[in-house]
Amino acid sequence: MDPFTCGWCGLTVSAATPAGAPRGHCPSCLHARHATDCHGRMTPIAIAVLPTGDWMVIHRCVRCDELTTEPVGADDNQLVLMRMAVRPLAQPPFPLEAFGSL
Ligand SMILES: [Zn+2]
Ligand SMILES: [Zn+2]
Repeated sequence: MDPFTCGWCGLTVSAATPAGAPRGHCPSCLHARHATDCHGRMTPIAIAVLPTGDWMVIHRCVRCDELTTEPVGADDNQLVLMRMAVRPLAQPPFPLEAFGSL
């Protein structure tokens, strides 16, 4: 695999993490490119934690809306990861005030 240029932030991304794992997304902004014929830009939309404790990034392709999951790299931007992890809590689909009257 060759290094690729991030379509979102322009960073030149090496094809493997420092640990030697294949890298599918930009470690700075976590955007990726759809690895099918689509080649659409993939936006990181959420973090999922597997039963094994591994963190996964969930990407959605802006072109075809397909969802993919990828393991988080050791040098991925932790600020972006944390922001994604807490986003559902910061923007709940219901008013938080409801908890006050329970
Ligand atoms: Zn990037
Ligand atoms: Zn796509």
